[in-house]
Parts: sequence; C-alpha cells; structure tokens
Amino acid sequence: MADEAGYSEDALEAGRLLFAGDAKFVKGVVDLKGLPASDRTEVCFAGRSNVGKSSLINALTNRAKLARSSAEPGRTRELNYFDIGEGRLYLVDLPGFGYAKVSKSQAEAWTKLTKAYLRGRPSLRRVFLLVDARRGLMDTDDEVMDMMDKSAVTYQIVLTKVDKIAKGEVDEMAEKIAGKLKKRGAAHPVVRMTSSEKGWGIPELRAEIAALA
Ligand code: GDP
Repeated sequence: MADEAGYSEDALEAGRLLFAGDAKFVKGVVDLKGLPASDRTEVCFAGRSNVGKSSLINALTNRAKLARSSAEPGRTRELNYFDIGEGRLYLVDLPGFGYAKVSKSQAEAWTKLTKAYLRGRPSLRRVFLLVDARRGLMDTDDEVMDMMDKSAVTYQIVLTKVDKIAKGEVDEMAEKIAGKLKKRGAAHPVVRMTSSEKGWGIPELRAEIAALA
C-alpha cells in the first residue's frame, strides 16, 4: 500500500496533542548499559545520514534544533532519547548509517550498538526507516531491514524530501518500495510520504505515533 492512509479528525488531534507539549532531550546513549528503563512506549527513527532525519524529528516536535543533523559532530553519534508528551513516549534518534567522516572502527561500534538496541528493546513499538524519495532503498537500508525482519521489530518506511520531485515520481517510488515490502515479514505495509520543509505528512505521522503510545 503506497497510498496515504486516511486519518480521522480525532486521530490527527491525538497526534497534535501528543506533540504539543515540550519535547525534551533526555540523554545520549553510547552503550546498552546506558539505556533508560524500558517503562514506556518507544519509537525510533533510523536512516542513512543526510536522509533528512533531524529535519523530520524537528518538524514533528515543532522544534528548530532538537535533533542535530549528521553533518554536525556530537550527539549524532549516540542513540538520542527524547521525552514526548511528558512521560508518554520515548522518541529515539538513531545514529545515521553510512556517515562518511568516521573511522571504520567507529562505524563498526555504532553498527554494533544499533543492532543490539534494535534486537533487544521490548518497549520499541516501531522503527521509522527514513528513505530519500529521490534515491529509494539503498543496500544499507536492505541490510537494516534484514536485521529487523530477523528480530521481528516492526518497521515502516517514511519517504523524505518529497517536495524535491514531482508527485507522480513520489507515487511511483512509494509503489515500488511497497511491492518490495510484501516479501518482508516485519514491514508495515503503508509507505508514508513526508516533507519537513513543506510540513507535508507531518500531522499524519504524529497521528501514527500517537496511536502507538
Ligand atoms: P540527517 O543527516 O538525516 O539528519 O539530515 P538533515 O535533516 O540534516 O537534512 C539533510 C539535508 O536535507 C539538509 O540540507 C536539509 O535542509 C535537507 N532536507 C531535509 N528535509 C528536507 C525536506 O523535506 N525537503 C527538502 N527540500 N530538503 C530537506
């Protein structure tokens, strides 16, 4: 299914309310021992660096600079925990995959941490795997999906930067990806389309998250 799944007014309002309060940075996690207690629903955002992940998190939370771009050093190398709705939900920003400016050993350490996190987090309800609408699925995305299929973590593809290409091309890309997802056990069938720049798909994504919280 590549169509925009319809949302009721109530669902959109629930999403708006969840994200209406202050989103607070809780902590950056560098190893599994640093994870906060698994005591509430958690969703996480994953994707290749430069996919538009920090822009999307900032759009969802109405904050200009809550999440940092992978082009900046610092917090982007950790699993960053944010509190949404005053204790209702953790939103987790995973380090971007395939960041060019890191050593091989650093890249391996992050991959190890990310994999361990995705496999062993009981409160993790859904992973939003961000994919650039112009590029589609890359090899690293397939690797991450293989891993999530194996560990039965539900994930949903979110196309980013859809304002950069024509609507017809976005629809085509979404259809193509949806077709590939049919063969994957843990994939959510609906491909979401977003533009942080234009605000497109943001209320719907909030509603989707609120329904899980
Ligand atoms: P991250 O590395 O995944 O956190 O990516 P960023 O959020 O830093 O975005 C990478 C680049 O893509 C930046 O130059 C953003 O301005 C741009 N970008 C992100 N989202 C959008 C979008 O929805 N539309 C357009 N046109 N550009 C975007």
